[in-house]
Amino acid sequence: MSFVLVRSELDELVRVLADDGYDVYGPVLVDHAIRYRPIGGIDEIAIGIRDVQAPGEYSLIERSDDAMFGHTVGVTSLKDLFFPPLRQVWSSVWDGETYHFEPAGAPARKIAVIGARPCELAALGVHDTVLTGGDYIDSDYALRRAESFIVSVDCTEPGEVCFCASMGTGPAATSLFDLAVTELKVDGEWEYVGRYGSERGEAVLERVAHRQPDQIEVSLARSAVSAASDEMGRELDTTGLPQYLASHREHSHWAEIAKRCLACGNCTQACPTCFCVNTVDTSSLDGSRADRAVRWDSCFSLDYSYMGGEPQRSSIDARYRKWLTHKLSGWVEQFGTSGCVGCGRCITWCPVGIDFTVEIPKMMELVDA
Ligand code: SF4
Ligand code: SF4
Repeated sequence: MSFVLVRSELDELVRVLADDGYDVYGPVLVDHAIRYRPIGGIDEIAIGIRDVQAPGEYSLIERSDDAMFGHTVGVTSLKDLFFPPLRQVWSSVWDGETYHFEPAGAPARKIAVIGARPCELAALGVHDTVLTGGDYIDSDYALRRAESFIVSVDCTEPGEVCFCASMGTGPAATSLFDLAVTELKVDGEWEYVGRYGSERGEAVLERVAHRQPDQIEVSLARSAVSAASDEMGRELDTTGLPQYLASHREHSHWAEIAKRCLACGNCTQACPTCFCVNTVDTSSLDGSRADRAVRWDSCFSLDYSYMGGEPQRSSIDARYRKWLTHKLSGWVEQFGTSGCVGCGRCITWCPVGIDFTVEIPKMMELVDA
């Protein structure tokens, strides 16, 4: 641990980042849910609020204290900031003689985030690999990421649907942050006991008042995170799971899950790592302009597998199986990492409460029976 901030200093950090040209985002209360939104100071963060999440359920309650980060992951993830749901790719404009193609411009402002959770960072790492780690780079994503500044907050109160400890992605951040803090109340005062993750983080913090932590603060921060690891609401044993799923494509339990699944795609929209997209072309009525955009799609949509005159995954069980086996099995083979970071959003935001941390063991028991 390398520094301690108090609340007023954390607020100063937000202002320093804004002065440096960042749009600073934090977890804010919007429409009865917590979402990342631009903030001008820490008083805009959802202070004193706790989220209650369960399969198909989400609600917010008042905490008995005024913790600033006393909630877990919100509805939306960092995916919305770095890989937006809809973005322009190019436009073409007719000048009377020919069309001129113009690529979309660079994102207007740099992105800084205060309060990103460790599982969110792990999801960013997954996207870094998928979107910038191969031969074809998503240049818009690469630009947003290269310029970003992340202040991560370790989790000390995991939620009912969290299972980051099983996935090795939390509750403490280990990489991809510029600064990481643990929120603690020491002698009646909120403190942010932190560590540096980058030279950029160190340089920014030099301009903000802070002090060195003492041994007690360091040990309090460590034990808070370590206790969180034992309090996860869920777990998933991933030993041999990629191989198991790959070799059980015909398991009867896929059809059982499909009886409940609505193929609504909520799970894929809420998931911080899902990256399926489609292109959307539009043109003006007089033909003087055409635009191409990229929009999130979902493997649950019937059209997504449309090929050779028909959808290749016409049944819901085929689509559910595709989603889960890609995420937990094919992804490992393709990208060397799981496609799941254990954030639990797909469980909370599934309208019928399908929870694969329950369904997978059930599936395995049926085979073993
Ligand atoms: S699959 Fe579910 S738990 Fe895993 S990262 Fe996606 S939304 Fe989170
Ligand atoms: S698993 Fe749930 S969220 Fe996902 S498509 Fe099916 S019903 Fe919708």
